[in-house]
Amino acid sequence: MKIQNEPFYKSLSHEKEVFEHCAKNKLPILLKGPTGTGKSRFVEHMAFHLDKAIYTVACHEETSSTDLLGRFMIKGGETIWVDGPLTKAVKEGAIIYLDEIAEARPDVIVAIHPLTDFRRTIYLDKLGEEIEAHPDFLFVASYNPGYQAGFKELKPSTRQRFVALSFKYPNEPDELEILVQETGIDAKTGKKLVKIATKIRNLTTLRLTETVSTRLLVDAALLIKGGLGKRLSVECAILEPLSDDVDILQALRDISNLMI
Ligand code: ADP
Repeated sequence: MKIQNEPFYKSLSHEKEVFEHCAKNKLPILLKGPTGTGKSRFVEHMAFHLDKAIYTVACHEETSSTDLLGRFMIKGGETIWVDGPLTKAVKEGAIIYLDEIAEARPDVIVAIHPLTDFRRTIYLDKLGEEIEAHPDFLFVASYNPGYQAGFKELKPSTRQRFVALSFKYPNEPDELEILVQETGIDAKTGKKLVKIATKIRNLTTLRLTETVSTRLLVDAALLIKGGLGKRLSVECAILEPLSDDVDILQALRDISNLMI
């Protein structure tokens, strides 16, 4: 898919520069970081700037190499081969973006090995065909190294096949800019949301498996901007998604009610 309009992305470090150099040098890229920190948005932004099509696959525990490479299908009484998103990207010189790659089945990692080194090939075992990647093909994957949150780990030998970029929660002024740009929320309310996020992120004692992401703040800002009450918006868009524990939720509510 070609991206038609420039996706807004607030650059937070040298990630754009690194991505461009990787594209130039045909190096695979691994985006590391918690959910909701702008990894997918960043890839879409870069795809637009590099004028490349992008195939995104949200990997989960059932994602297999067949899902990525392709399969035989029956159409109108005939058996035909249908390329998967990875094969399409390899042939067309597009970006493949494997979101949460560590969640996929181990045969996915095996299938991508020859793509992520000097060979830049894939092997379609069902067709007995090896395909060399188009010169413009770019491999991008994301991974959440949230050991405590029950995410799967990526083997060091796989990690070492990539140039890696870490994504963190933005600092307060950057996060406010993202909120205002994304949602049109007024700066005063935006600032309060960002402060709530900072406060909760620093509450390590609550042992939240995942803390407040920029995505949750964007959701809350959208609800407020649309006219939903501030406290209710914070409750539904920020607090409830963080925990199912009644006591933890009450503690979070007590803190955020003082701040909004
Ligand atoms: P991830 O892929 O890391 O889970 P996303 O890219 O889906 O996260 O980001 C979630 C949302 O947060 C985006 O849709 C966007 O609204 C917002 N966002 C986060 N970081 C940024 C950023 N640096 N620039 C612009 N928007 C951002």
